[in-house]
Amino acid sequence: MSDKKSVGILVPCFNEEVVLPQFYSRVQSVIEKIDSIDFHYIFVNDGSSDRTIQLMHEFREKNSRVHIVDLSRNFGKETAMLAGLDYCDYDAVVIMDADLQDPPELLPEMIHWWREGFQDVYAKRKSRAGETWLKKTSSHLYYKILQRVTNVPIQVDVGDFRLLDRQCIEALKMFRECQRYTKGMFSWIGFDKKEILFDRDPRAAGKTKWNYFKLIDLAIEGITGFTIVPLRFASLLGSLLALGALGYMIYIVVKTLIFGVEIPGYASMTSIMLFIGGVQLLFLGVIGEYLGRVFNESKHRPIYLVKEYDGKKIIDQINRN
Ligand code: UDP
Ligand code: MG
Repeated sequence: MSDKKSVGILVPCFNEEVVLPQFYSRVQSVIEKIDSIDFHYIFVNDGSSDRTIQLMHEFREKNSRVHIVDLSRNFGKETAMLAGLDYCDYDAVVIMDADLQDPPELLPEMIHWWREGFQDVYAKRKSRAGETWLKKTSSHLYYKILQRVTNVPIQVDVGDFRLLDRQCIEALKMFRECQRYTKGMFSWIGFDKKEILFDRDPRAAGKTKWNYFKLIDLAIEGITGFTIVPLRFASLLGSLLALGALGYMIYIVVKTLIFGVEIPGYASMTSIMLFIGGVQLLFLGVIGEYLGRVFNESKHRPIYLVKEYDGKKIIDQINRN
């Protein structure tokens, strides 16, 4: 055994056959130049329906440092990352997208800061080439709101591309919630963080797996997973409305006593009723979001299932995690 440090490159993949060969050769050319570190790959196949898994096995045939976690179906990137962390036995891990949007050329810099003692070296995008105006502005706005309503400082323009040392990996593995918002967890765990800047390239090939529904889903996850401010807000708004209604009631009673009964007021009454009804339904929905979370987490189902690890069937799911 050498006392070389080992680093695992964790790559969640869902239908990435078109970029995977390019990804592998580009990462290879970077890590070949760093001989002070033992690099390994942890490819997580997140239920791809194309040739992704075959490609992974082809890499493994050539390179025994390629490891393959083959999930039993598509669980989503957040869960695929947890599976990769569970199967990572190295001194550190670097999480990377398969589409080369996270340039592997940043690895030496990450390793440098890790050696300086930083435990979470994360890459912040300077630019977001190849992303629509709508995606850019909506994500900017979302982070602003999230920052305001949660106690954890969520980093803006930071993805999952980062190097985490063993202590951070073990910390993240303790988060066994099935509705995951990993980005919030990275902030939550703390430890010594170091930010480095990079230009995010457009996807090298293939299509993004995200659509607006998935993004909205993740956005709600981020809020409901890290704060109960919306519930507080419901109580606050409810109290304000009740207080306003009380004031209005006193006004009406006094007015009726002095000036007698007045028939008009149909329009104002209907609009007030509709408004209150709408607010009630909205907050019923908010409560429902949290209740749904409680429901999902209370089932204590396994977060993911592994079909094969390095081509071998996994029977005992529990003891591996
Ligand atoms: N991914 C995954 N499971 C999914 C969706 C995506 O493992 O259900 C992986 C995907 O293969 C890629 C990474 O997550 O390596 C980022 O996905 P994508 O590039 O589609 O997202 P974007 O960069 O557009 O946010
Ligand atoms: Mg991408």
